[in-house]
Amino acid sequence: ASKAGGDVTIEYGKKLNEQLLSRLQLETDLRHAIERGELELYYQPQQSMNDEGLIGFEALIRWRRNGELVSPASFIPLAEETGLIVTIGDWVLEQSCLQLQKWMTDAKCRITVAVNISPLQFADPFFVNKVERIITASGVNPACIELEITEGVMVNDIGATTKMLKALQNIGVRLAIDDFGTGYSSLSYLTQLPVEKLKIDQSFVRDITVASPQQTVVQATIGLAHNLGMIVIAEGVETEVQQRLLKSWGCDEIQGYYYSRPLQASAASVFLYSRKIT
Ligand code: C2E
Ligand code: CA
Ligand code: CA
Ligand code: CA
Repeated sequence: ASKAGGDVTIEYGKKLNEQLLSRLQLETDLRHAIERGELELYYQPQQSMNDEGLIGFEALIRWRRNGELVSPASFIPLAEETGLIVTIGDWVLEQSCLQLQKWMTDAKCRITVAVNISPLQFADPFFVNKVERIITASGVNPACIELEITEGVMVNDIGATTKMLKALQNIGVRLAIDDFGTGYSSLSYLTQLPVEKLKIDQSFVRDITVASPQQTVVQATIGLAHNLGMIVIAEGVETEVQQRLLKSWGCDEIQGYYYSRPLQASAASVFLYSRKIT
């Protein structure tokens, strides 16, 4: 019996070891992903509910690791744990600005690129300077860059957060609250934050086609945001029924598979040029 138990322990130890090794390997690989040029941005179109159509794109990161496309859900958490997200985040912002600059030159139209900002990036005291430096270097209009922050960054110190957001606004970038409704921020924060846009999380959008608490939450959120002078975008919109409902409730913009999946830069360019000829 003791031998069997020993084997189990050895097996268990082996497994732990393997997990640890693969995590270490992942971390090492991620460290080199940028310099090896393995990171890539996809761009998901965002659509206005009025006749304007395409208003811009959200930049979403992908990692081409050993030829396979890795989703951010499986490496962003590790990037955050290890602090690598700061370097990655700089790259994402730089890359987004360069792409936008290219689109502006080619299409000569006004679109925005939305960039996800991790709470760790936001915690960097030099973050505002960095954003300003990257945007200035690229030559894009700061008003065409939108930073998406989650409720998580605001729960700590509302005073410091507000100051930071105001500084970002002074640079001229736009701000959006991402995944709205999934965090723990109190609604009273919302009235104090200098934020232009609210993104309703896809977990709420999923169930709006039937009478549900989600329906009520989405309708109330749209009303609240509008009363505070904010624009509302719903994410994860997959069907025409969802799109029509959101429109009837006054939602300003949508993003989701119904309009388009996230696209590689080249495909996003085709999407843009076919819709925006000025
Ligand atoms: P997110 O910011 O909430 O991005 C929306 C996610 O929903 C994306 O997943 C997008 O591909 C997916 N999506 C879009 N439309 C639909 C739809 O109609 N149905 C469904 N089911 N899903 C849809 P993705 O690209 O896998 O990204 C996952 C998360 O990883 C993002 O969630 C964001 O939190 C994070 N992320 C992505 N890129 C970056 C980045 O550059 N920096 C940071 N810090 N985080 C990033
Ligand atoms: Ca986002
Ligand atoms: Ca989101
Ligand atoms: Ca999300």
